Amino acid sequence: MIERLDAFMARANAAYYATRDPFADFTTAPEISQVFGELLGLWAAVMWQSMGAPDPLILAEAGPGRGTLMADALRAIRRTMPPFAAALRLHLVETSPRLRAVQADRLPGAIWHDRIDDLPAGPLVLLANEFLDALPIRQHVRRDNGWTERHVADGAFLEQPADAPSRAAGRPIAEGEVIETCPAATELVANLGARLAAQGGAALFLDYGPARSAPGDSLQALAAGRPCDPLVPPGTADLTAHVDFQALAEAAGPAAVHGPRAQGLFLAELGLFQRTGRLAETLPPARAAALIASAQRLAEPDRMGRLFKAIALCHPALPTPPGFAA
Ligand code: SAH
Repeated sequence: MIERLDAFMARANAAYYATRDPFADFTTAPEISQVFGELLGLWAAVMWQSMGAPDPLILAEAGPGRGTLMADALRAIRRTMPPFAAALRLHLVETSPRLRAVQADRLPGAIWHDRIDDLPAGPLVLLANEFLDALPIRQHVRRDNGWTERHVADGAFLEQPADAPSRAAGRPIAEGEVIETCPAATELVANLGARLAAQGGAALFLDYGPARSAPGDSLQALAAGRPCDPLVPPGTADLTAHVDFQALAEAAGPAAVHGPRAQGLFLAELGLFQRTGRLAETLPPARAAALIASAQRLAEPDRMGRLFKAIALCHPALPTPPGFAA
């Protein structure tokens, strides 16, 4: 069987998320510190207020994993803004039946969908952490005699002649260089941008990748916590690729785009260190030290603070969202 890379990646990740506990293989921001989800909950609450406090409001998360981010977010929302807690309707976008069951335990009352496009109409606040990096990518390779596109056959890459990739236009690309595109992500953002501009709301994506489009092969795989060959049999490894934030911003259409902003700066502006400090005061010394270390891991530039970025899409009439000032 010869499969285009995006078809292979979609099949591999569907098999992986359906059968494995991804969190045995990697740790995400909400699993590192409860403050991450709490701050995103407060971000959603501020957006809801600046939208004029619509009731009902669709609060959605794409790719909720274990449900940790949303559980932390809802706790912070209930504590600080009960009217928002009363107005929100919780919707989750998740394809894995296995993870849906985990999420149902943590987030009673949620309604599930397979795709962001399937969310009901109306004012929306959408959150997504490390969702876009799992979406299937295509890879074109510049060759002396034209372009090829990477396919997968029997566990090995196979290049087949192809048209130029949609995003290579106007840039000199050296022989052998790889251009990645993620049509699933840009289509999703195009639909979401149109929806937010028409129906109101905001979406916040946190993920890893460069701020500007750049050539390069960023496909990576993790199995049992270690990097491995991405072409191992589907279901045995988690495949991700860098998110191209410039491509997303260009796809957002009528929605206003804020960012991308480095995660460290974004979280610091939301009050990561103040909230962590207050919480640490209530904890025994060892747990307080661990909480402070987890905030540093999320925010320090040489750890998750710079490579990870936040980008927001908003109805154009909304003010600049928290975390994107400066
Ligand atoms: N946001 C969580 C989990 C990240 S892992 C966290 O930060 O911990 C990626 C999540 O996206 C998983 O829940 C996975 O099942 C889901 N997912 C991956 N591809 C998807 C797709 N195409 N559609 C919907 N959900 C998807």
